[in-house]
Amino acid sequence: MRNGEVSYWWQARGLPPRRPALPGGAEADVCIVGAGYTGLWTAYYLSRADPGLRIIVLEAAFAGFGASGRNGGWVTAALPGSRARYARHPGGADGVRELERNLRDTVDEVARVCAAEGIDAGLAKGGTLTVATSAAQDARLRRRLEHERSWGDDAQVVRYLNRDELAGRVRVAGAVGALYSPHCARLQPASLVAGLAEVVARSGVLLYEGTPVTGISARRARTPAGEVRARHVLRCTEGFTAAIPGQRRTLLPMNSAMVITGPLGEEAWKSIGWESAETIGDEAHAYMYAQRTPDGRIALGGRGVPYRFGSGLDVDGGVPPSTVAQLGRILRRMFPAAVEGGIGHAWCGVLGVPRDWCAAVTLDPRTGLGGAGGYSGHGVAAANLAGRTLADLVRGVPSPLTTLPWVGHRSPRWEPEPARWAGVRGLYALYRTADRLESAGRSPRTSVLARAGDLISGIPH
Ligand SMILES: Cc1cc2nc3c(=O)[nH]c(=O)nc-3n(C[C@H](O)[C@H](O)[C@H](O)COP(=O)(O)OP(=O)(O)OC[C@H]3O[C@@H](n4cnc5c(N)ncnc54)[C@H](O)[C@@H]3O)c2cc1C
Repeated sequence: MRNGEVSYWWQARGLPPRRPALPGGAEADVCIVGAGYTGLWTAYYLSRADPGLRIIVLEAAFAGFGASGRNGGWVTAALPGSRARYARHPGGADGVRELERNLRDTVDEVARVCAAEGIDAGLAKGGTLTVATSAAQDARLRRRLEHERSWGDDAQVVRYLNRDELAGRVRVAGAVGALYSPHCARLQPASLVAGLAEVVARSGVLLYEGTPVTGISARRARTPAGEVRARHVLRCTEGFTAAIPGQRRTLLPMNSAMVITGPLGEEAWKSIGWESAETIGDEAHAYMYAQRTPDGRIALGGRGVPYRFGSGLDVDGGVPPSTVAQLGRILRRMFPAAVEGGIGHAWCGVLGVPRDWCAAVTLDPRTGLGGAGGYSGHGVAAANLAGRTLADLVRGVPSPLTTLPWVGHRSPRWEPEPARWAGVRGLYALYRTADRLESAGRSPRTSVLARAGDLISGIPH
């Protein structure tokens, strides 16, 4: 089994040759820090809207080194944050519905650009299933459905599938029921980010790799090679943000880990079903997520070690054996027929979590500083919408996107260490205990445990 090496997705397509580093000081109209989806989508839409703009992207490692080259490949319309919190914005509940409608459209926008630009990322829109594998999970699904309906989401957005209806799509061992939403696609994440980087670089954006930004201030980004001066400096560094001076408590780098099987044979797929590229998650508190890859593997992820003291990062995606074993158990429990494929590769990465779990798109016209992120694990589609929004903000073009409730949203800062570490570790200990008790058929007390965890963490529901 391979471990780390950034991700299976990168190993499968081969790591790209490195682009040159920033040779020295430079000037630009827009300087983007970080070449993941957020930075690259922003550069893409800016260069399309105004080909005359001088845009520089500075990337510490290589385009797609971060979560964008390691994720579960769900292009999901899930809201990265809490409806109730976004509804405090002047746009109120209607603004939240508008943000959610835009996220649903974004799934198709990502597909449109892939087709238009010839990016072959294996994108297939099969919707998403949230599966309940215990009575307690099923009760949560039904409550969640009621909540969706109370916000006006009808059966076109999300609907309940009973055990048989679910089995007609995918046979998940022990499943009781599921929610289905058509607004999700799966893709090969590294192929999307690699394709985007090529398109952006071809359109005249200067993309420098191996160039860590060591400080950001009004109209300036500092690097070891020199300073980039720009009218706008956009921070698009998501789970890596804490390492930038002054940003230690802005976004918590939450770890997520994945495993992937070898290709499964015809018999295994016959017993599992799963012919329509749905993404699959469960309703556990420490939830899992999975996709069937175009070449017939199952890629499955979950939390693993949730957080490293002092906002520490993994080394090139390396995963501890205990996490691999934990994800392997979930895989075997839900898809017993997948055992034949074994686990071919394991890796992990960091996502950015704000203290209130709500993403933000910001631009301060006074300082020219801005950025987007804090998607809390729902960033594949959201980064596209954020990129389009940042492009409008930078160009000073009022648009329906620039009034969405996540624009200018401010999250509180995280607690200093060791409270942050103890809080996140404690939260996941509560979640895992609740999940264990629920699987054993004991539910009422577990909800109390999990709700206590939610209250401590500020996780929205
Ligand atoms: C294992 C895993 C699974 C996930 N699964 C899903 C999923 O299925 N669906 C979903 O919607 N979301 C998922 N996410 C989250 C999603 O991948 C992210 O929200 C999204 O990729 C964020 O993109 P980004 O460009 O903002 O950040 P990143 O992709 O992390 O990019 C940030 C970039 O900035 C660079 N950088 C950092 N610091 C500096 C610096 N100082 N100077 C220069 N460059 C710097 C990094 O090297 C990196 O390339 C997952 C995340 C992980 C880790």
